[in-house]
Amino acid sequence: MKAKEGMGLTRSVAHWDEKYQELQHRVEEVVNLGRAEGVLSWDQQTYMPPGGAQARAESAAALARIVHERITDPHTGELLNDLSTTLPELHPDSVEAAFLRVVKREYDRLVKLPARWVEENARVSSLAQVVWVKAKQESDFSSFAPYLERLFALAREAADYLGYEERPYDALLAQYEPGVRASQLERWFAELKPVLTRLVQEIASKQPGGLPATADDEPFGPAAEFPDAQQWELGQRVLRAMGFDFQRGRQDRSIHPFTTSFSPGDVRITTWIVPRNFLSALYSTVHEGGHALYEQGIPPELSRIGLGQPSLGVHESQSRLWENIVGRSREFWQYWLPQAQELFPGQLSGFTVESMYHLVNQVRPSFIRTEADEVTYNLHIFVRFELELALLERRLEVAELPEAWNRKMEQYLGICPPDAARGVLQDVHWSDGLIGYFPTYALGNILSAQFYEQALAEVPSIPAEIARGHLLPLKEWLNQRIHVHGGKYESQVLVQKVTGQPLVTQPYLQYIQAKYSELYGL
Ligand code: ZN
Repeated sequence: MKAKEGMGLTRSVAHWDEKYQELQHRVEEVVNLGRAEGVLSWDQQTYMPPGGAQARAESAAALARIVHERITDPHTGELLNDLSTTLPELHPDSVEAAFLRVVKREYDRLVKLPARWVEENARVSSLAQVVWVKAKQESDFSSFAPYLERLFALAREAADYLGYEERPYDALLAQYEPGVRASQLERWFAELKPVLTRLVQEIASKQPGGLPATADDEPFGPAAEFPDAQQWELGQRVLRAMGFDFQRGRQDRSIHPFTTSFSPGDVRITTWIVPRNFLSALYSTVHEGGHALYEQGIPPELSRIGLGQPSLGVHESQSRLWENIVGRSREFWQYWLPQAQELFPGQLSGFTVESMYHLVNQVRPSFIRTEADEVTYNLHIFVRFELELALLERRLEVAELPEAWNRKMEQYLGICPPDAARGVLQDVHWSDGLIGYFPTYALGNILSAQFYEQALAEVPSIPAEIARGHLLPLKEWLNQRIHVHGGKYESQVLVQKVTGQPLVTQPYLQYIQAKYSELYGL
């Protein structure tokens, strides 16, 4: 009896292993196709001549179609089903358990969306983007409105196909931030809102005449000129100090800075150089460098089987941590101001660490999210989150959106956009069908402070090291505590593992209040 049981068990383990290998093999192929898609897209945004556009679009569409077919192949579903019904005891932290969790999540999501919906969504969003570009140029919301209505209708359909327990928004959010619900976002954001709006008001009351509503794009004056080569050199020095591995990555230029990874051994970042303001390229480099350290830090054995992608919020926590908490700190400038002055001696001769620290932390409510400072940034996200939630739940009609946008801007930031281009039409996301994406930016900010607090508790010398230009102690902590897990865990599980607590807003609120109270003498 015993021997027989043993033999049966051996046979079923061998059977399970065989199926597991087969599934892993399939996923590896999808990962490889995805990496090829990444190369095409990176090239398109960096070096491709305009004449390549048509053929590139066709190549990208062909690859996307093959990837979708491979993932949603019914045999993948059979394998997942077999593996889950004959599941051996797997530790939830094991690679095998994580692999099955993540593949099942992706498979379930993709097979629930009918091909008709996928095609229609791709068609409408590609048309909508073209219309949006023109509508933004002409600041004409009415020409974009019918497309936005269609995109939100498609999003509602998607939520119904995908299914949800509480609210349709949850089904969309799950693509970007699995395991988080709209109701949780509302609770976290409700903790931030009163503190941030009060800070903005208090800072404004300290400024004679209130705060200007546009970012100053020439903070060094109209005559200042920061040569391209020196700006590039400064960025490369900072990346080297951060531990960006140039044997496993490179930096190039693009109109909108971004990070893409073809594997942990080949991570690409881009920047954009503004001649009159060296801070623009510097901070985009530090931001994308933060994303890149994550990508380079993911174990290749996880990346290879599709466990290389953390949630968007976790990814953004890394870029925000480096850009804001590190890059906009006094300690950072103690080391990097002399470096910058060596490269731009005339332009920066009058600066001290203190004056640079104040310059890079200026608070001013602005119409444009991407120009926002740390204090006002999340308020821009709340405007978008609340409006897309209301649109999805049909508490707001698309025709009412510009007015609702302006009202919320007044409520949170105290300013009213003069036109739709600087208001409701400013972001590309909705035109691309990315509904439920914006909150991940705010989650990134919240998480960046919670992770940093933990880093300081474990390695208290990090700020002193930053002041000496040593950025590696922080990078190594992030590698060992966060990057090493790749995409094995949802953000809520990861934050618990790293900090011993669920996601909490208190470290972020403490950081932002302490920093800006001191800066503005509140
Ligand atoms: Zn980012």
